[in-house]
Amino acid sequence: MSAIILSGKELAAQLETPQAQRVRDLQARGVSPKLVVVMAGDNPASAIYVRNKARACERLGILSDTIHLSQTVSQQELLRVIDGLNADPTVHGILIQLPLPEHLDEDAALLRVNPAKDVDGFHLYNAGRLLRGEDGMRPCTPQGIVRLLKSAGIALDGARAVVIGRSNIVGKPAALMLTQENCTVTLCHSHTRDLAQITCQADILVAAVGKPRFVTADMVKPGAAVIDVGINRVDGKVVGDVDFDAVSAVAGFITPVPGGVGPMTVSMLMENTLEAAWKASR
Ligand code: NDP
Repeated sequence: MSAIILSGKELAAQLETPQAQRVRDLQARGVSPKLVVVMAGDNPASAIYVRNKARACERLGILSDTIHLSQTVSQQELLRVIDGLNADPTVHGILIQLPLPEHLDEDAALLRVNPAKDVDGFHLYNAGRLLRGEDGMRPCTPQGIVRLLKSAGIALDGARAVVIGRSNIVGKPAALMLTQENCTVTLCHSHTRDLAQITCQADILVAAVGKPRFVTADMVKPGAAVIDVGINRVDGKVVGDVDFDAVSAVAGFITPVPGGVGPMTVSMLMENTLEAAWKASR
């Protein structure tokens, strides 16, 4: 068996047509959607991610700006910048690019963002709404995973889903979003016993571990949909958390790395920004 490739790159490209139309609809109502990214310091990976986000905005006609603070910026100055963006009615989305330099309090920065402009969905208010199954800004990566599964026509209702990784930005919200789609979800982590026995039962397996080729073919149920969130650099090459070649021979569907979840994360950031602009225009 050779798995069907779930291309996030292709789906994200397809979604740009309706997204660009939404931008034009908003403009017709006198609203120019705008995303502002706040970054601090010179993390090279962050610089690449920020550039990708700015390019996506440009393709759609979303205004974007990056506020690049110095490596030594104070917490007070960071919070002052966020307050200014919260108060600016022309700004619809605010994204704090993580990681921040170590001396800064990330949680305090994320909490300072107006939840209505929290396009990353990391604010406690939005996290709480997700926990309760209520509408709100959803974190982009899990949102992208669900969109990718749905676009391939993979049945979620009643499916057994296993998520490996319990971070607040990927694993936990992915488990909650799949629960909301009526999957029966098991959330695994580094203390999980008999991991392979659990993953082998998964119709949908999400790997968000951060360890290259962690998921091997013997951990996958034949025909399962395998979603690889990992971004790992090995010998100058980007690889996922899944042993792609071996798992492709067992799985029914698989996301590639690169070109899988990554482009969907950016695409969902665009959706969240458009949603925030639309809500602000009502
Ligand atoms: P974290 O490091 O925050 O979380 C990793 C999780 O993996 C933890 O919950 C940890 O468990 C679990 N884990 C570690 N080792 C094992 C093990 N041996 N068995 C089972 N579970 C284990 O990572 P993130 O969630 O932030 O990111 C995960 C990966 O996804 C990274 O490669 C990251 O770069 C990538 N990523 C990709 C994005 C995209 O758009 N494609 C977006 C965000 C992240 P424990 O909690 O017990 O320590």
